Amino acid sequence: MRLLRATARRVKSRPAPSLDGPVAGVRAWIAAEEASGAVVLRSQVLPHSAWRSATETAACGLGRMPHDAPDERCECGLYAWWRLDDTAVGQAADAVATALGLHPLGAVLGAVMGWGERVVLHREGWRAGRARIVALSAPDRECCDAMLARYLARVEPYADWAAERAARSLWASESVVRRVAAGYCVPVVPQRGLESVAREHGCRPDLA
Ligand SMILES: [Zn+2]
Repeated sequence: MRLLRATARRVKSRPAPSLDGPVAGVRAWIAAEEASGAVVLRSQVLPHSAWRSATETAACGLGRMPHDAPDERCECGLYAWWRLDDTAVGQAADAVATALGLHPLGAVLGAVMGWGERVVLHREGWRAGRARIVALSAPDRECCDAMLARYLARVEPYADWAAERAARSLWASESVVRRVAAGYCVPVVPQRGLESVAREHGCRPDLA
């Protein structure tokens, strides 16, 4: 497995650590109802792109030159964070709030493993050519509301609509998540257990 360094916010001064196997991560999706009635997981970065099964393969539709995803000089690939922090939760909420035309049912959180010919490591996470969902979680509303509030206070402290956005129903319900998990044949775990479930399926290299 060849590792590439991210162009933006690259990890400095040390060679890329070698990976013996998949990387572990956490991420979010937008749960959305399709015309068929099925509930699918949509990318929060590219909401028109849905995961069709628990295992997904990246394709790049961004670069001018055809290439395999991910590419260090591009932004393609399947993304995950190392940790489910305020930014990860805040960006998930933001994606749901701005995907109104897609009939979003709220953000769903999950643990993933990533692998492939190339894995691009960032300080905050990674992007890989392939990824698999190993567990999903219904967002803990109280916890996620607090995380979102901290995120909005940091990135949008003067926006009048920040509080209004934060008050919207942005988190998928337990029943929606159970329906999604059944469709993708993956287990549901509590949000606080996501990072440890991910670590059972992949590594987290030392990027210090
Ligand atoms: Zn690309």
